[in-house]
Amino acid sequence: MTQTQFTPRVFSGIQPSGGLTLGNYLGAMKRFVDMQGPEFETIYCMVDLHAITVWQDPAALSHNTRELCAGYIAAGIDPEQSILFNQSQVPEHAQLAWIFNCVARMGWMQRMTQWKDKAGKNTQNASLGLFAYPALMAADILIYHATHVPVGEDQKQHLELTRDIAIKFNNDFGVDFFPVTEPVIEGAATRVMSLRDGSKKMSKSDPSDMSRINMTDDADTIAKKIRKAKTDPDALPSEVDGLEDRPEARNLVNIYAALSDSSAAQVLADVGGKQFGEFKPMLAELAVEKLSPISSEMARLMGEQSEIDQILARGAEKARAIAAPILKQTYEIVGMVGAASR
Ligand code: ATP
Ligand code: MG
Repeated sequence: MTQTQFTPRVFSGIQPSGGLTLGNYLGAMKRFVDMQGPEFETIYCMVDLHAITVWQDPAALSHNTRELCAGYIAAGIDPEQSILFNQSQVPEHAQLAWIFNCVARMGWMQRMTQWKDKAGKNTQNASLGLFAYPALMAADILIYHATHVPVGEDQKQHLELTRDIAIKFNNDFGVDFFPVTEPVIEGAATRVMSLRDGSKKMSKSDPSDMSRINMTDDADTIAKKIRKAKTDPDALPSEVDGLEDRPEARNLVNIYAALSDSSAAQVLADVGGKQFGEFKPMLAELAVEKLSPISSEMARLMGEQSEIDQILARGAEKARAIAAPILKQTYEIVGMVGAASR
């Protein structure tokens, strides 16, 4: 079978499941901004259907969706250049997800570590949506025939599943219809860890606010959280090898590297030998310098709700123009009567 040439197209999403964190910014959003340009068509989404796989207060969900949109724009996503919208407003995502529910196998889904982490011990009480989450994520990507997906390291397994779903669909129906997507997991901060526990990912849904830096935190709060971040008593090493078995130290160095667009090796060449008492204030100052222009722009945009809603509505229209023909072709391939004439 010949490999079809697909338009270079980027898709990624963030859940409006709480306030944006530094992990979301460094691992995802900042990198989404970097991928805007002539090389790719870029499509970025607020994945509200994913957010409701765990309970969301309706008013909070609306607020968080708009705040996430404000975050995207404040971080540098240009709604003229990229397609920016919320997932529920493009029904083709959920429609393709159903097809993929019938392609993916139970065994594949049961292996997903996010499912195991989020469902916890009481899997019987988790929502069916939480279990099916990766099939919806595959649909989010493949409904646009996206070729590149920038994500944090925690999403690697879901992207492998997306590739498996595309391959199985193509095999089952003898077509070369869905691209086998490339994950793009790059940079110094693909996995920002909790400030309280270097073995846990920083998450917007973590119960402890001290575990994360929120994009809406003010300068004093950011400085306090970094000052109180868990560390070890040793000085910083001069080389990356010296960070082995020091997850908290590694995390702060990686954050510094990503915020300053450099690498852990470069940062350590400068700060090796310093104690945390000296390094933490440097990190806090850098974080405030980079984040405060974004958070003030977010606050300004949140005062312009109708502008945000218009941007989302226009984005959904543009997204549907790509998604609808791909869903139609999928239905035709699967053999659904009526699909061809619509
Ligand atoms: P939740 O806890 O509700 O799952 P989250 O903070 O994990 O929220 P998501 O919306 O699930 O955020 O993820 C959005 C994007 O941010 C994904 O690409 C994910 O890989 C990335 N991301 C999330 N947390 C981190 C992190 N700590 N470090 C780097 N990237 C991250
Ligand atoms: Mg997550």
